[in-house]
Amino acid sequence: MKRVLLIHTGGTLGMAEGKPDNSLKPVQFQESVVNFVPELKQLAEIETVFAFNIDSANLTVRHINKLVEVIKENYEFYDGFVIIHGTDAMAYSGSALSFLIENNSKPIILTGSQKPLRHIRTDARLNLINAVEFATMDIPEIAICFNSKLMRANRATKVSSGDFDAFDSPNFPLIASVGVDIVVNNICIGSVKPHGKTVFRFLDPAINILVLKTFPAINPEIYFTLVNNQDIDGVIIEAYATGNVPILENTLIPLIEKCRNLNIPVLITSQAKKGRVNLKLYQCGKEAMRAGALSAYDMTFESAITKLHYLLSIGLNGDELRVFLSKNLSGELTV
Ligand code: ASP
Repeated sequence: MKRVLLIHTGGTLGMAEGKPDNSLKPVQFQESVVNFVPELKQLAEIETVFAFNIDSANLTVRHINKLVEVIKENYEFYDGFVIIHGTDAMAYSGSALSFLIENNSKPIILTGSQKPLRHIRTDARLNLINAVEFATMDIPEIAICFNSKLMRANRATKVSSGDFDAFDSPNFPLIASVGVDIVVNNICIGSVKPHGKTVFRFLDPAINILVLKTFPAINPEIYFTLVNNQDIDGVIIEAYATGNVPILENTLIPLIEKCRNLNIPVLITSQAKKGRVNLKLYQCGKEAMRAGALSAYDMTFESAITKLHYLLSIGLNGDELRVFLSKNLSGELTV
């Protein structure tokens, strides 16, 4: 039987309504998840480790690094890993892991649920069963398993706060889907360097990334103040559709130029989840590109920000950083 390590990090799956306000919060697991879902033992030999137990809204760089550490310590002893994680920040953790674990050769599957495992109508049981089953298969991917879908983690994003179908992979096909049969889309599984070593890296908690979203009433001065007075290492602009930013009354071009002069990378993502940034299509994108902004192409926001953080963490800057930001490092973008 394959050996799978269940890594608990928190999220709704392990929550319960608690005093004084009846809101959902993490509770101590008196019994292990495997006791709640004993069928899991039919799929694999399972051991559980508690990395931390939080609502993923409280996730920090420290937690992501802890997760990498737990996987690193256990990597050689298991065939696959299932990370029980809150859905809110799951795509951030999954994207970060995809950059921090280089040349991964094992299934590392993140899952969680919209309703706690203790609830009768929970989606946790099925998500867990599917995730453990995927963790026993030959799928060397860092992936999110949710509602019978397996998605590459750095392509997935949370799209619903109320549906069991909470995640989507808008710009990349599903790796697998579960119906009567499990259908694996083999051509979507990343390749592993045959004799390559798996390398584990960590995020630098001291990196400051400024995120700015375009909207009609935007006041660029606010961001100038931040760029001038704070220690900003990188900027993400969540622009309109194909990467358009205002260039007239409330123009962002001087801000982008200022960043270029200060050697601060500016990466443009899109408010549209589906499709890709193409800075050459409109004048409003082209001016941003001329001023020094880079395209995030079809990366999710979660992927773009964790990639920028990772590259800054390993000490890249200037042209080298720009080259790596635009490259496909871990299946996160289509060039
Ligand atoms: N707030 C929860 C979390 O992300 C939501 C969930 O798990 O579904 O931890």
